[in-house]
Amino acid sequence: MSDLLPEAKREKRLGRAMAKAIDDFQMIAEGDRILVAVSGGKDSYTLHHLLASLAKRAPVSFSLLAVNIDQGHPGYPGHVLTEYMQKAGHDFRMVHEDTYSIVTDKIPEGKTYCSLCSRLRRGILYRLATELGCTKIALGHHRDDILVTLLLNLFFAGQLKAMPPKLVSDDGAHVVIRPLVYCAEEDIAAYAAEKAFPILPCDLCGSQDNLQRKIIGQLLANMEREHPGIRTSMLAALTNVRPSHLLDKGLWKKLGLEVAREETARGETDSGAGQLLALTRRPAAASR
Ligand code: SF4
Repeated sequence: MSDLLPEAKREKRLGRAMAKAIDDFQMIAEGDRILVAVSGGKDSYTLHHLLASLAKRAPVSFSLLAVNIDQGHPGYPGHVLTEYMQKAGHDFRMVHEDTYSIVTDKIPEGKTYCSLCSRLRRGILYRLATELGCTKIALGHHRDDILVTLLLNLFFAGQLKAMPPKLVSDDGAHVVIRPLVYCAEEDIAAYAAEKAFPILPCDLCGSQDNLQRKIIGQLLANMEREHPGIRTSMLAALTNVRPSHLLDKGLWKKLGLEVAREETARGETDSGAGQLLALTRRPAAASR
């Protein structure tokens, strides 16, 4: 491996982490046609690139359709993405749906648009998946999105939940997958920079930043600086849940628990948390 360039090493690490998530949660099945939501940001470019590379060598046969939604933000440079996708020969659709007018009309100035905007976008993706014959929808959320969501729910919503790696829509018609759940954002950012993906600006909507999300992201970054490996451990924790050591009586009932067992020795569970720690732990700086 030592003759591999750092970029190739990074691609391999990201690809391995993605393949593990796909395998762990049975995200892709034979014959799937996957709508990959490509926003023009680093995460979705990386997701699409890794999936396209996996499609060439995976034991199951599946195809991709990259889709970008031009939501009508003033000055949106969608042509940059269209040109890139066409040049690379990817199956790609640019879809124009003016959600910008709707959110600016409905949400008072100064409030964040994100909640309504993303709900509208999700609805459009569901409709497109049906119209375009896609069996799954792939989103580019990564490990750090998952961890920030976990803490937001813990701190502000009184819930112990992160983001599902695989989700079925309320009406049961659509399956959403998040193949990058084990991939670290810093790896994705470095990879996207190395690949020189033509990133589209993400501030054209004029929405205020989601302050809480930003604060929690910063908190995690600070903790990681002081205690390297914290995010890796948090991710592993999500794969190694001990329901009997939580206070959810509904969960106790569902699992038929009557009393918690004392944990004298900490063994591996079949969730493979140790395996995940080994896979996602950042190796020496040489590959950065
Ligand atoms: S940042 Fe802008 S485009 Fe993204 S979800 Fe929020 S309002 Fe929508």
